[in-house]
Amino acid sequence: MGKRAFGIIVLLAFFGSAAMAQDARNDARNVVDTVARTIGAATVKTIQFSGSGNIFGFGQSYQPGGPWVKFNLKSYTQLADYERGASREENVRTYLDPPDLGGTALFIGELRQVAFLSGDAAWNAGPGGAPAPAPAAVEARQLQLAITPHGFVKAAMAASPTVQSKTVGGKRLSVVSFTWKGKYKVNGYVNSQNLLEKVETWMPDPFLGDMLVENIFTDYRDFSGVKFPGKMVQNQGGFPVLDLTVSDVQPNAPASLDVPEAARQPVPPVSRIESLKLADGVWFLTAPVGPNSMAVEFQDYVAVVEGPFSEERSLAVIAEVKKLVPNKPLRYLINTHHHFDHSGGIRTYAAEGVTIITHQINKAWYEKNFRLPRTLVPDKLSQNRKSAKLVTLTDKYVLTDGSHSLEVHLSQGLGHNPGLLLVYLPKEKLLYQADYFTAPPAGAPLPPADHMINRRNLNLQENIDRLHLDVERIAAAHGRVMPIADLRKAIGKTE
Ligand SMILES: [Zn+2]
Repeated sequence: MGKRAFGIIVLLAFFGSAAMAQDARNDARNVVDTVARTIGAATVKTIQFSGSGNIFGFGQSYQPGGPWVKFNLKSYTQLADYERGASREENVRTYLDPPDLGGTALFIGELRQVAFLSGDAAWNAGPGGAPAPAPAAVEARQLQLAITPHGFVKAAMAASPTVQSKTVGGKRLSVVSFTWKGKYKVNGYVNSQNLLEKVETWMPDPFLGDMLVENIFTDYRDFSGVKFPGKMVQNQGGFPVLDLTVSDVQPNAPASLDVPEAARQPVPPVSRIESLKLADGVWFLTAPVGPNSMAVEFQDYVAVVEGPFSEERSLAVIAEVKKLVPNKPLRYLINTHHHFDHSGGIRTYAAEGVTIITHQINKAWYEKNFRLPRTLVPDKLSQNRKSAKLVTLTDKYVLTDGSHSLEVHLSQGLGHNPGLLLVYLPKEKLLYQADYFTAPPAGAPLPPADHMINRRNLNLQENIDRLHLDVERIAAAHGRVMPIADLRKAIGKTE
């Protein structure tokens, strides 16, 4: 074959594949168009759907690696404004009876939460309904709009979707894919009735890395001229966060989600750490949100109790500890339990070569987690590829240098999670506890006698008695440092 003929064949092949790519994009647009016609997406500018079912506490499983703690979802309403990129989501939850095991937000009666998005502003209804800015939630709420059935169609049309055929569970489905905001891959699974059965994407999570988020739609029905799923389940990290039976759908419901001035106010950074000296070589480290940490100085090293929240928080705590004790290495991190608000920052400590002390029950789950992919938001551990050092305990572990000691004890009988650890400093008569007693704000209603809040307080006292701990002060992960008398008062013992 002459050079010239070869060149023509290469050119034909090039134009041929470009034409095929163009065909594939046209095919994808055709599939999306057909879905749009089937569910009535073209005429929908806003949609409001509501219902009830179950809602779950993400990151708050009873067992590490298990399903998220479950609540009744008494009511749920989402208003999505696709034209303005705005949304309002309201949920009202109550405890199951008896309450599901696992970490729980503590509330009496029912808990109502409202989350807003408008363009590049996000906020929540704070105490008394006042807007509380939530800038960190903007991207996730925008992405949530793109994974509802009508939102998916609109986001796919605005992107350059591709399509491929896939057999899933014996069913032939067209999978429409696009990249949202140049970063997030979104796949929509379309069945032979031109309905979206599932939309999946991946969001960054400090603990789970590139976390799979799936919206599963079944039981499509006609609601006021549009088709909408009668059942929606959203999974995050492999387990449901929402299981909704839809009872009402209103296309083009009025929406005026303007950004209130208060929602634009800057929020204090999670990296603003304040330290409070509790005793010689012992500091309580607080931040505007999330659990508090505690630093303890030994002869040759420093130990930190709790690595909450995120890498940003951990870096700030570590910097503060280096300022407080500049000439000693940070050697240990004590992790009270696996719930994400308490463990979201432990990877940063691992990346710094700090040994993590945790309950044996967390070992396999943490080791698996330390290897999960993190392409969306790489962190220090994924970048430096250090292998994390874990030390595990079953009942008790002690750090001591002869004159100073720190005891780690397994708490028993709470039902919050089976590996919950208490940290006790015998010399200082100080107990650090996570998710137990927190003094209620002044004027807060008293919980009923058998409420979880009271059971937690009683259980803490039972553990203090069982372990023969001589406690004068309690440092709360969520809360402040309190005299033991506050706990005694809460459980009705004033002697
Ligand atoms: Zn917890």
